[in-house]
Amino acid sequence: MPVPMSEEEKVFKDPVHGYIYVHQPLIWDLINTREMQRLRRIRQLGTTYVAYPGGDHSRFSHSLGVYEVIRQILAAFDRNAYPWDEDDNLLAMAAGLLHDVGHGPFSHAVEKVVGLRHERWSEAIILDAATEVHQVLEHHRPGFAQAVADVIAKRHPHRLVVSLVSGQLDADRLDYLMRDSVATGVDYGKFDLARIIRIMEPVDDRIVVRQSGLRTLEAYLLARYFMYWQVYFHPVSRSAEVVLRSILQRARDLAGLGEEPPFPHPALASLLRETVGLADYLRLDDAVFLNAFNVWQDAADPVLRDLCRRFLDRRLLDYREYPEFRPMWWQRVLRAADASGFDSRYYCAIDETGTVYYDYYLGGGNRQGEAIWLWDRNTRSLVETSEVSSPVRTIAAETRVARRVYFPREIGEQVD
Ligand code: ZN
Repeated sequence: MPVPMSEEEKVFKDPVHGYIYVHQPLIWDLINTREMQRLRRIRQLGTTYVAYPGGDHSRFSHSLGVYEVIRQILAAFDRNAYPWDEDDNLLAMAAGLLHDVGHGPFSHAVEKVVGLRHERWSEAIILDAATEVHQVLEHHRPGFAQAVADVIAKRHPHRLVVSLVSGQLDADRLDYLMRDSVATGVDYGKFDLARIIRIMEPVDDRIVVRQSGLRTLEAYLLARYFMYWQVYFHPVSRSAEVVLRSILQRARDLAGLGEEPPFPHPALASLLRETVGLADYLRLDDAVFLNAFNVWQDAADPVLRDLCRRFLDRRLLDYREYPEFRPMWWQRVLRAADASGFDSRYYCAIDETGTVYYDYYLGGGNRQGEAIWLWDRNTRSLVETSEVSSPVRTIAAETRVARRVYFPREIGEQVD
């Protein structure tokens, strides 16, 4: 079945890809839905802008970027005449475009306070008959919304399409690492995206990398390692996230005590009461949160008021690295805070972040996770990357986590 093409090519100017090209009316119509436009009002990196002033780009630009990476990969498959069913192009591109449609404002922090995950919202937005996204997908072909939701949830039987959207070397990571690196100015987070796309190849039901591209692949995995430590785990950005979590927690606790602060937007109230439905959820954006904090900086409750001022004025919590858990010292921090009038439930926190940069366990029969396979064209065999790359082996074995204790600056002298 030929895929309908627009008469006119649409383009977006983009700092990562130069241009983002849209040829199919389906993709253009999805971009113009209310649910996708909402992502313009949600920052991709949550609180990272307090540490990197340039890091305030939107989830919308990232979503377009993921679509564009998939479009480029498919175009490369086509040029090389790799086995690939063209009918699957739109499925992969639509799933890439929509993969983050369920993200809310500051979603990683919010998910720790209220137990609702963005993956669930993505699925609801795609499958609920009331959304424009759903209507556009079903207009293309009945059942297409379900197929797109299945790809995003990794349930779809077409493993190649799934691995383009989420895998070790997926379009999501390829775009966000480059985009976050460009936006923050952290140059060593960049890698050769054009060549990564050139060396990818579909073999059986997986995407593999040609062995001649090993150095390019190593540079990508190292860039990812650098970005985690330099940007995603940045202690000041994490401090802002701790304060944000405490604000939401305090607002919620006050409501439980019958002293609910005035909620400038009803959707925020229903989010914190965990009664939020899809229509309300789609009203949430960064502005709703920031406006609430702006109003609450004059709240009657001194804790809520102070936390909001700290967040807005970037007078965040101080921290100490805390590689090993020391319960006595932690108790001392809590007591010092409480004794100085800072309710330790809101002013102290242990923040722990860790990731595996290449989550493929080495050795023994204990292999799990997804590997990146190198393809030797001559011998027509696959080899797992860490078996031939010592840099990859090193970062695959890295288990370090970032663990920090946060507390008010005012008690700094009492904790050391
Ligand atoms: Zn994403």
